[in-house]
Amino acid sequence: MRTALIVPRNTIISSDKFEDSQWEETWEFKSRKRLWSCPSLSLLTVAGMLPQSFSIDYIDLNYDTEINGDYELALFSPSTSQANQAYLLADGLRKKGTKVVMGGPHVSVLPEEALQHSDSVFIGESEETFPIFLKDLKKGALKKVYAAETYPDLALSPSPRYDLLGAYDYKSVPIQLSRGCPHQCEFCISSQLYGKKYRRKSIQQVYKEIEAILSVRPKPFIFFTDDNMFLDKEYSLRILDLLRSLNVRWYAFTDAHIADDREFLEVIAKSGCSRLLIGFESLTAENLIQINPSLWKMKRCQDYKKIIETIQSYGIGVVGSFVIGLDDDKEDVFDKIEEFVLETNLYATNITILTPFPGTRLYKRYKEINRLFDTDWSRYNGFELTFDFNNMKKEDFEKKFFKLYQNLNSKERITNVLNYFKNVLNEKNKIKGST
Ligand code: SF4
Repeated sequence: MRTALIVPRNTIISSDKFEDSQWEETWEFKSRKRLWSCPSLSLLTVAGMLPQSFSIDYIDLNYDTEINGDYELALFSPSTSQANQAYLLADGLRKKGTKVVMGGPHVSVLPEEALQHSDSVFIGESEETFPIFLKDLKKGALKKVYAAETYPDLALSPSPRYDLLGAYDYKSVPIQLSRGCPHQCEFCISSQLYGKKYRRKSIQQVYKEIEAILSVRPKPFIFFTDDNMFLDKEYSLRILDLLRSLNVRWYAFTDAHIADDREFLEVIAKSGCSRLLIGFESLTAENLIQINPSLWKMKRCQDYKKIIETIQSYGIGVVGSFVIGLDDDKEDVFDKIEEFVLETNLYATNITILTPFPGTRLYKRYKEINRLFDTDWSRYNGFELTFDFNNMKKEDFEKKFFKLYQNLNSKERITNVLNYFKNVLNEKNKIKGST
C-alpha cells in the first residue's frame, strides 16, 4: 500500500507578528531551533508497525514544499500548533481518495475535531491498537476511533524506522527510552497522556535503536525525548554505559534532583552528554505551587542557582526552561528571569509563554473561567499569548517577552557564557592532569 507519513510545517510564530524585532536572528532563537530540528518520532515509530509490503514515504513539509505523488494511506501526528495545517492537507488528500489517519496528543484530546478531517483517529498510545487498525484496513472496514484502553508495555514498542529519514538536514535525532512523569504539572499534556507511572524500554531495545540511528547518521546528536531521563538510577547507569561505549553526543530532559548526586553527574558528563534541559518553570514559589501541587518543584526553587552551578561545573550545559504568564507573574517577571539567566551563566534557555494546550488541567481551568480568547491552534506555539493574562496588557506582555529574547542574545552574555565554560573545562583538565 502506498503510504505517506506527513509532518506539517512548524510555524514557531505567525508571520504577521513582531516583524521588526528580527528575533529569528537571535542566538537564543537559533539555538532553540537547532534543538527542535528533528524528525517526528511518533511517525517513525508508527512506521515500525507497518508491514514490509507497505511502500512508505516520510515527508517533512519543513523541508519539502509539497506532497508529490498519489497515496492510498496518509498518517499524521500533529502537535496543537500544527493541527490546522494537518487538517488542510488532510482535506486535500481525502478529495483525491487517500485514506487519512491521525493520532498524537492533540488528536487524542480532540478526536471529534480531527474526525472532521480524517477517516480514523487514534486516542492515546497506539502500540496495542495499531495491529487492530491494520487488520481492519486489510478488511476495508476501518473504524472511526481506535482508543487505547491501557498504557501499553513499552516492550511492545517497535524500533522507529530511522532508515526513512533520507537526506533531511536534521540537527538531532530523537529517541525515547520511557514514558510517564510523576510530577503532573498543570500545563503539561505529556504527563496527562502518558500517566504518572514510569514505563521504559529494555536496554536491548535501546541498543538496537541507537544502532539503527548510527547506521543512517554515523555522527548523530541524539535527543532523548523522555519527560525525565533519569528517574531510575540503575537503569540510567546502564544506558549511560551504553552511550559511552558508542561514543555519541546527546541531550536530554531531566529535573533538579540530578544535582544531588555528584558521582552520577560525573558519569553523565563522561558519557557524551552535551546539555540537560531542566524545567525550572518559574522563580516564584506561588507559581510553582499552582502548577505542581505535589510541591516538588517549589521545594527546589531556592536552590536553583546552586543546582545550575553544580551541573555546569561538570561541563554540562544547562538549558533552563521557564514559562511566563503564570498567575503570580507581574510586570517584573521579565527582568527577574533575565537577571537570573545572566547571574547563573545558564548555557541556554527555553523560555515560552504559558500555553493552555487542550487536554491539560490548565486548559480546563481557564475555559471554566472564560480566560481563553484564542482558538486558532496555530497560535498555540509557546510564543503567543492565547488567554487573558490578568496582570498586563497583551501588547505590553508580548513586547517585553521579545525584548527579553533580544537581551539574552547580547554579545556580552554570549561571551560570558563561552568564557565561563572555557574556565570550567580548564579547571577539569587541571584536575585530570594532577591525578
Ligand atoms: S515535570 Fe515536565 S514532563 Fe513532568 S509533568 Fe512537569 S512539565 Fe510535564
